Amino acid sequence: MKTAIGIDIGGTKIAIGVVQEDGKVLATNEFPTRVEYGPDYATDLIVSCVEEFMQQFPTVTGIGIGAPGPLDSKQGKVLNPPNLKSWHGYPLARRIGSAFRVPVKMLNDADAATFGEYFFTFRDTYKHVLYVTVSTGVGGGIIINSSLYEGALSGAGEIGHSVVQREGPVCGCGKQGCLEALASGTALNRIWKERMAAVGKPVDPNWNSKDLFAHFDKNDPIAQSVVEEASTHLALGLSQVIQALNPELLILGGGVIIGQPSFYEMVYEKLPSYLLDQHSQLLTIEKARHGTLAGVMGAAAIILSKDEDIGGKQNGI
Ligand SMILES: [Zn+2]
Repeated sequence: MKTAIGIDIGGTKIAIGVVQEDGKVLATNEFPTRVEYGPDYATDLIVSCVEEFMQQFPTVTGIGIGAPGPLDSKQGKVLNPPNLKSWHGYPLARRIGSAFRVPVKMLNDADAATFGEYFFTFRDTYKHVLYVTVSTGVGGGIIINSSLYEGALSGAGEIGHSVVQREGPVCGCGKQGCLEALASGTALNRIWKERMAAVGKPVDPNWNSKDLFAHFDKNDPIAQSVVEEASTHLALGLSQVIQALNPELLILGGGVIIGQPSFYEMVYEKLPSYLLDQHSQLLTIEKARHGTLAGVMGAAAIILSKDEDIGGKQNGI
């Protein structure tokens, strides 16, 4: 069976896996990115790990990479992602490709995860799909006519930076009131702590969004108001994209969605009220299936699919 290597590059860790065409993950490995050591350090570790996997699994036909955006997928180059400061302008795909005789292709990490969910689970049933992940940030990707839509410079699907509250909190991108600054796990945690501190309640600096949901489940009114408002903002942000694209399927993923069923339910229930009937009637909503392996599986799917499925313009490097 056709097999590919998927490499998921993150600001704190890099995960690599061998994935079969049927979605079975045959092997995985991961190590810290160590951004402070620069990209050559990490790339050397990637190359030696891939070498081992290629010897172990001779059926591997290519190497897919999902890396933080912004990036240029056609050049296989990292541009200027804030969490990979020492990597700016690094020709990652070419550098990895020079060590092997198989095709190497690269997408931004959210697009890779989108494509992986689509390719392994939903491609036989749907043609128009929106994928949105809510974890430390909010990201997304778009499938149109069964092909990944990347936009002009691999930047389509950045739903996290849709402004849903004028003069809202400042986002990491510099704008105010982005969805990511209001409904990501990081934002939920920050807003909760601010509101607790504002009314003089004790705040543990080690609390994270899981603690927020633990308070929410105990009917704490501050936690409830934070989750309630964030679910409204997320539903609002999703509705804008759904109205522009009219997808048949919305896939929701990421730790906050998958780990917190009550948050998912609130978004699920609110969303139709922000949509035209013609958009909500045909829309199916599903949870993402790949969990923490979404990045690796998505990166491998770039290789396992036909070129047309990722826009037909993805070049081997
Ligand atoms: Zn933003």
